Amino acid sequence: MAAEDLLRAVRLRPKAELHLHLEGAVRPATLVRLARRAGSPLFPDVASVRARRRFEGLAGFLSLYRDVCRLLREPADFGLLARDLTARLRSERIVYAEVYVSPAIVERLGLEWGAVRDAVESAFAAHERGGAGRIRVLLDAVRHFGPDAAHRVLDLHARHPWPRAVGFGLGGDELSLPARDFASVYRRLAQLGLAPVVHAGEAGGPGSVAEALRWLKPRRIAHGVAAAADRGLVRTLARAGVALDVCLTSNEATGTWPLATHPVLDLLRSGVTVTLATDDPGLFGTTLSGEYRKLSRLGATRGELAAVLRAGFRAGFAPSRHHPPATSASAAARTRS
Ligand SMILES: [Zn+2]
Repeated sequence: MAAEDLLRAVRLRPKAELHLHLEGAVRPATLVRLARRAGSPLFPDVASVRARRRFEGLAGFLSLYRDVCRLLREPADFGLLARDLTARLRSERIVYAEVYVSPAIVERLGLEWGAVRDAVESAFAAHERGGAGRIRVLLDAVRHFGPDAAHRVLDLHARHPWPRAVGFGLGGDELSLPARDFASVYRRLAQLGLAPVVHAGEAGGPGSVAEALRWLKPRRIAHGVAAAADRGLVRTLARAGVALDVCLTSNEATGTWPLATHPVLDLLRSGVTVTLATDDPGLFGTTLSGEYRKLSRLGATRGELAAVLRAGFRAGFAPSRHHPPATSASAAARTRS
């Protein structure tokens, strides 16, 4: 199968995505609408949103993210974001997704979590009723807000559990606080039925990944690519089966990992489980199929592309009923890799 045919097959077949933030999935048109309603001069038109995609490093991206969040003034706005996200899942044939939803951001905005959760739940439930696939939630805390704010995220969930939530993660500025500061937060997860995930190895080095493994015991790591610089750490990740949810366009855009020197293939060939994801598709202007195209351009074989596709389902926390049927891509992988 020629590379183009294979990528076409990827676009058409059912996929899973495990690293996707609710706010970052906003469509440019929605952002313009939210800005207009908020009386903000930030995003007067779609072209201005696209212009903001050229930011300065990770700090520039986090500043854009903050600008987006400031436009969210009421719970229904989160419903808008959720509908943007589900429309994207349908158009991309993503039949299983784990979405980061951040009660910590909602708290910062001064909105009521229960109302926000209901607005998001309503959009996600409608998506599932339509038969386009399943969505699960990863409750997200923000690292630079500190461990107390992270505990409050779990307190909210303990008081009113959201059945759709299957995991808990830590995003935000990786360099702000060490993972060990959150060990007491992560110790609560098993009791709450939440699987541990964490953002690490994006702006931080391999030490940040090692520290996260030691103190937080994640089942998956968002990004994690910095681990490639430490062979012992790579072996540990492979042996323990801790998957890395890798986002090539995101790494490129924030300047953390230029595509030309990205270690994703090295990690894959060292036996680490890798899934591909978009992180913030609305803000980076990317698609999941586009991420597979980039992996192919880096030199991934068809067997490797198929392995990553399968990993998207296998590394999910609740994917069983949506395991994809064998396709020519995965059949080719089995016979030729
Ligand atoms: Zn992320």
